[in-house]
Amino acid sequence: MDQSATRLSLPESPREFGYFVDGEMRPAGDRELYERASPGHGVPVTRIPMCSAEDLDAAVKAARQAFDDRRWSGLSGADRAAVLLKTAEGIRARAEEIAYWETLESGKPISQARAEVGGTVGMFEYAAGQARSLHGDSFNNLGDGMMGLVTREPIGVVGVITPWNFPFLILCERVPYVLAAGCTIVAKPSEFTSATSLILAEILQEAGLPDGVMNVVPGTGPVVGQAMAEHAQIDMLSFTGSTRTGRGLLTAAGSNFKKLGLELGGKNPQIVFADADLEDAADGVAFGIGFNTGQCCVSGSRLIVERSVADSFAEMVAEKFKKIRVGDPLDEAMQVGAITTDAQNSTIMGYIAQGQADGAALLYGGEQLDFGRGQYIAPTLFGGVTSDMSIAREEIFGPVLTVMPFDTVDEAIAIANDTDYGLAASVWTKNIDTALMVTRRVQAGRFWVNTTLAGGPELPIGGFKQSGWGREAGKYGVEEYTQIKSVHIEIGKRSPWIE
Ligand code: ADP
Repeated sequence: MDQSATRLSLPESPREFGYFVDGEMRPAGDRELYERASPGHGVPVTRIPMCSAEDLDAAVKAARQAFDDRRWSGLSGADRAAVLLKTAEGIRARAEEIAYWETLESGKPISQARAEVGGTVGMFEYAAGQARSLHGDSFNNLGDGMMGLVTREPIGVVGVITPWNFPFLILCERVPYVLAAGCTIVAKPSEFTSATSLILAEILQEAGLPDGVMNVVPGTGPVVGQAMAEHAQIDMLSFTGSTRTGRGLLTAAGSNFKKLGLELGGKNPQIVFADADLEDAADGVAFGIGFNTGQCCVSGSRLIVERSVADSFAEMVAEKFKKIRVGDPLDEAMQVGAITTDAQNSTIMGYIAQGQADGAALLYGGEQLDFGRGQYIAPTLFGGVTSDMSIAREEIFGPVLTVMPFDTVDEAIAIANDTDYGLAASVWTKNIDTALMVTRRVQAGRFWVNTTLAGGPELPIGGFKQSGWGREAGKYGVEEYTQIKSVHIEIGKRSPWIE
């Protein structure tokens, strides 16, 4: 890989990976190898073992043992923090390698992959601080004979199931916080994008994480993912993926009443008022749906815009779409890359066809872009959209934006909330009253005012309504992976029950 080139080259042959259990990268052996083709080029780039339910069992056993003997949870927060900080250094040292394999497997542009990997360094650093500051509470007001403590204890073995849209970023929005809490982990990446999860396991090991604390078992959802949800020795499952798959986990996780953290789908509104800085808003709206080809659970896929500027604003957005640089993910100049999976490519094109069949007006895009290889879709804008259309209601997970006008603040809020989802939302206005009113009343776990898709290690993420349960990241994210114990301590002589 020539780092000075503006276009990186493809690997000469696919890189082979093993799977990571109990502190070692185990060879694939006779396991079936999934050969992943780069969605931007259609060329094989990695070979990943598809693990079995027995492999998962071995990983859970290692994680269980590592939790039960307290080799990690028994350390001081300071010692756990030291490992997390060293991991941050390890990511920094291997950042280019991680970004390269992330780009090859996911189809996202290399510049974006580099920025995401850079961002994960801060997540480990922040979580290191959380490992040291995690604490409970005390009650010194129970009278002279009693004192109360509330302690936080790590919840145990945590399963982490991740999707293919942000394989490394989403993993790192969970792993450092789970580790800060003192838990052990069995992670299953999407079968399409496993490489960088396996690299992270190596980095953690080199940073001094004890054996068995981090395990990565690549495999399919129905085999490894389902077995994780059902596994009696996994205490909590953090799942990021579709609402449909998440719903299925509710039953499977019931086997041992494991705690579930769910970050699911979204149909996220971008509400634009006529008094906004419309130039900023158009740029933000284009970014909100164009970024990662709209394959983000937090993509701003519904533009809800004040009627007086609706047509001219849609034109401004179309102008922005025209200028987005879509193309080869290995080209450093590109802002948007390929659609990650064949199935997703068909799904998006299916929604675009459905939108047209339902009578929506195609204002921009709508077609597959032909670069000779790989699968690419132009940023797409639909006007004339009504709330009953599938393009207005369902999560498309692609670069497809629908426009709906509104007349009043109340109407804007009602349209924004007219969805089963509640993951994220943005409002664009220069009126502070409007901004605050909309921020309060729109049901969403993440909210942006005059910006979109902003994030970082400090603020929690997660959804309202059918977008999920629980929160990841921030101090809230660490606390999710703890359980609370209340302790009553009697002081002095007990007043007897039996005289
Ligand atoms: P998508 O359709 O976008 O791939 P999914 O929700 O199917 O979204 O995938 C997210 C993650 O869930 C992936 O790691 C996938 O392998 C996993 N998965 C899929 N089906 C199941 C299942 N039945 N149980 C557990 N995990 C699953």
